[in-house]
Amino acid sequence: MTTSTPRIAIIGAGPSAFFAADALLKSDKHIAVDMFERLPFPFGLLRYGVAPDHQKIKQIATVFEATMKFPRFRLFANVEVGRDISLNQLRESYDAVLLAYGAGKAAPLNVPGENLSGSFSAMEFVGWYNGHPDYVDLTVDLSHTDAVVVGNGNVALDVCRILASPLERLRTTDISLSAFKVLKNSNIQRIHLVGRRGLEDASFTNAELRELATQIPDCAMSFDKSALPNAQNTALLSERAQRNIEILRSTEPANNINAAKNIVLHTARSVDRITGFDKVTAIVLAVNRLAGEIGKRNALVTQDKESLDCGLVISSIGYRSRRLEGCPFNPQRGVVPNIDGRVTPNQTKDGKATLYVTGWLKRGAIGVIGTNRADATETAAAILADLSEKSNWREGSVEAFIKPNHTVITVNGWARINEKELSLGRVLGRVRRKLSTEQAIKLVEGSSRPLRCAVSKTY
Ligand code: NAP
Repeated sequence: MTTSTPRIAIIGAGPSAFFAADALLKSDKHIAVDMFERLPFPFGLLRYGVAPDHQKIKQIATVFEATMKFPRFRLFANVEVGRDISLNQLRESYDAVLLAYGAGKAAPLNVPGENLSGSFSAMEFVGWYNGHPDYVDLTVDLSHTDAVVVGNGNVALDVCRILASPLERLRTTDISLSAFKVLKNSNIQRIHLVGRRGLEDASFTNAELRELATQIPDCAMSFDKSALPNAQNTALLSERAQRNIEILRSTEPANNINAAKNIVLHTARSVDRITGFDKVTAIVLAVNRLAGEIGKRNALVTQDKESLDCGLVISSIGYRSRRLEGCPFNPQRGVVPNIDGRVTPNQTKDGKATLYVTGWLKRGAIGVIGTNRADATETAAAILADLSEKSNWREGSVEAFIKPNHTVITVNGWARINEKELSLGRVLGRVRRKLSTEQAIKLVEGSSRPLRCAVSKTY
């Protein structure tokens, strides 16, 4: 049985999923898009990754809201592919399946003590302050004076900024209320930011480094200025790295003992182990020798070690994607192998829908939210080109695969949750107060509107 509409399933509801959906829905092919999301809430990294003090970036949600208004768009949130429905079932029901579920795992440090209480991955810590359902209930103890953040990327900067920010910077944001309360009683005075290579090797972007170095009230940054490259070597760096060095050069040498918070940059240090009996009390760092060309140096661990007392360690050394049953995966790179977004090896031999990929799952966990637009456009173009060679479309009745008593959050359901979150936020003078999974499902189930999986098959 066939329909007149090509139907595409997208797995994931983060920025890359929405950019792809938008490109597909705006094409002249009269495409219908069904988007599947494990959590009851859409927007992925925009909602749970972008820091709460970066509300301007979060405004792109209005663009995604507009995509949701397309009549041929349907949301199936609170539906996990691999648990509530299989990839195979999607491939039997749709004309193409686009994987856009991002990078949901933290890269591990693989050092002793990593699992002690007080040691977190950035994925956990960021999820905690952003109210991510998986991490919102973490117990975070900020009673110690010293915290250590490992890694020299933008996520590490986000974590430092949240730990260093005066409460006023966060009060009106959508930060989790429980995290806000813990931060309110924070005793942290020093945040040690540890990089395994030099400051010229850091992957910070300029605006983010400048913000932390110069724009956080009552916060000072200190580092060993002799660790900065000389002018001759600086000239050999990328433009971004050169600007980072300029920002650091113009940062007043802190040691500002009067500042409430101090960010202390440590370079050429690798984590040897995290110590403590039942919770973190210190971190042992190995001193590295940096070898190779400026800008492409390798960190070689030496026998020299130093110890730093601390009560919190946050490892921010990148994200990895998970493997989805039934889909090719490159475990070394943590990505789905593909050419221009077409999953390789080609998955059409079994007669089921072709697989495509976009976002962090396609290229690794690199790039800002906007990077996903070009990436998704490329994959959407591949889907559209392949669809133009076909004329028969599958009749998919995907609802039949989902348990009848399972609550699916549809576009209407999300509208209701969104409305509630915004109104709760208004009462508290915040942009939003995020609901928990239970609160969201209860709200949707109790609603008089048709919020369940009452989705029509005609477009
Ligand atoms: P990232 O930029 O790749 O940085 C990862 C950092 O971890 C690097 O400094 C890397 O050092 C270090 N690292 C990796 N393995 C390590 C190990 N075993 N020991 C010590 N250090 C290790 O990743 P990210 O910070 O997670 O950010 C992910 C992406 O999101 C980036 O593209 C970032 O720009 C983006 N993002 C953007 C914003 C924003 O625009 N505001 C905010 C957050 C994130 P090496 O260089 O030596 O490998």
